[in-house]
Amino acid sequence: MGREITMPRNERSGSVNLGRHAAECKICAHGQRDEIELDFIAWRSPASITKQYGLRNRSTVYRHAHAVGLFPKRQRNVRAALEKIIERAGEVDVTAPAVVAAVQAYSKINVAGQWIDRSEHVDLNAIFEKMTAQELEAYAQNGTLPAWFTGTVGATASDGQKE
Ligand SMILES: [Zn+2]
Repeated sequence: MGREITMPRNERSGSVNLGRHAAECKICAHGQRDEIELDFIAWRSPASITKQYGLRNRSTVYRHAHAVGLFPKRQRNVRAALEKIIERAGEVDVTAPAVVAAVQAYSKINVAGQWIDRSEHVDLNAIFEKMTAQELEAYAQNGTLPAWFTGTVGATASDGQKE
């Protein structure tokens, strides 16, 4: 395609050659690119994004997400992640303590994803940062949280009640 790409060089993500990526990417040229990116950042699963927007396969979503730096944005979006835990509580096997912790955490996180209760021991942002790429993907695909996640929030919730 001979279309010109007006994105600033090296500004959105370091080493990836964005111009070359964009020339081959179905999402960069997609009419609903913004919606696709917002869905990804809101922890929607790449499989369902692929289906809804008529993309070829999930790797299209992953390649685009890497190229334009969506992974760190999604990771910072703790609020959306918690909404997903709460929403899915009835559908998938999310343990009760995890749901309770998510509801409590959700009520304390502002729109920017910052924890607003300074006296609280648990920092959900920090917990999400501790999750490996694999754990984050498992979470995005089917809402599975690592075992240590529920351990962490469970322990801290009871600590807080001793006062
Ligand atoms: Zn792209």
